[in-house]
Amino acid sequence: MRKKALFVVLDGCPVSYIKKENTPYLYSLMSKHGCRLWSSQTFASQVEIFTGLKPYRTDTFVDWFYSPETSPYRIFRPFLNNIALSKRDKTRNLILKCMTLYGGHRIDPLNIPSYLLPNFDFNRSMFSYYRSQVYRLPPHLFHTLDAYGIDPVMLHFAELDTLGHVYSPRSREVKDYMKMADHKIRQLLKKADYRLTVILSDHGMVEITDYVDLWESLSQLNLMLGRDYSVFLNSPMARFWVHTEKSRNNLINFLSELGHGHIISDKEKVERSLPQSKKFGEIIFWMDRGVHISPDFYHFKKLKGMHGYLKPEAVPFIIPGYSLKDGYLADVTPTILDALDLPIGERDGKSLIR
Ligand SMILES: [Zn+2]
Repeated sequence: MRKKALFVVLDGCPVSYIKKENTPYLYSLMSKHGCRLWSSQTFASQVEIFTGLKPYRTDTFVDWFYSPETSPYRIFRPFLNNIALSKRDKTRNLILKCMTLYGGHRIDPLNIPSYLLPNFDFNRSMFSYYRSQVYRLPPHLFHTLDAYGIDPVMLHFAELDTLGHVYSPRSREVKDYMKMADHKIRQLLKKADYRLTVILSDHGMVEITDYVDLWESLSQLNLMLGRDYSVFLNSPMARFWVHTEKSRNNLINFLSELGHGHIISDKEKVERSLPQSKKFGEIIFWMDRGVHISPDFYHFKKLKGMHGYLKPEAVPFIIPGYSLKDGYLADVTPTILDALDLPIGERDGKSLIR
């Protein structure tokens, strides 16, 4: 009979969520069999976790990038008027339906202003990753598990991320949810008989202390969005592509004086294993820890928690029965394969088993 490996994923759980008083079971597991992982600054941390490869190797960083030639929305270019960054309406849902029928992928236009949509494409490397997870293809960890007769079972505490965003990481709602998760995990692990159990988180959650309305500030510039430059507003960073030389200087001056963040250098991208390609942004302005761009292309409401800041945040990684040393997200897959005595293959990470 095939064996099973259990993956318990606490979505958006920094190490600081695990406390002796509130989550006694996870606290005791963490002290005996856990370690801290330094979370990557990409928005695709699961790729790093389940492939053991750094973002520059998998070309995963953010979901959208600048590519007017390949944008699935380019066919709508003549129809998309100057619609401002406004609340999601019926038109936007109609665009999504047309897109799904036309492209075969459900690529949500989010709240990207309509006249900018034909400039952006969805990162196909993310589709490749999702395919590798569903069909158990390399370099996904599940491919190796499947090949050696082990079926992965995933328990995903997804609401934790939403609670952190909406109520803040220090809220009563987050504490209560963690208490519940601690209890459920204890019950589950008592009864279950898995070949291996893994408990981990994909990224942390930082309390928001300041908001910047970048959209409004950009509209004050003597530049025309879409003609002089394009911008994509993620929550903790803004990515720019310049179309005229004057806009490059204007934007750099504007961002340098804005405060609350800085333009990241190529050296910083290398240090964080991020892809260098300009398709992800010719100028990337990363907000300081706790500063949230509001509104952005994902949210209109002001959030109270956010992740994806440049300064790394530690997340828990626990394998009951093993002793682990601290590491990085890319070390998860090699560690699990090592624990199961399976070949690690070509990965960027290394096993953390002591
Ligand atoms: Zn989130």
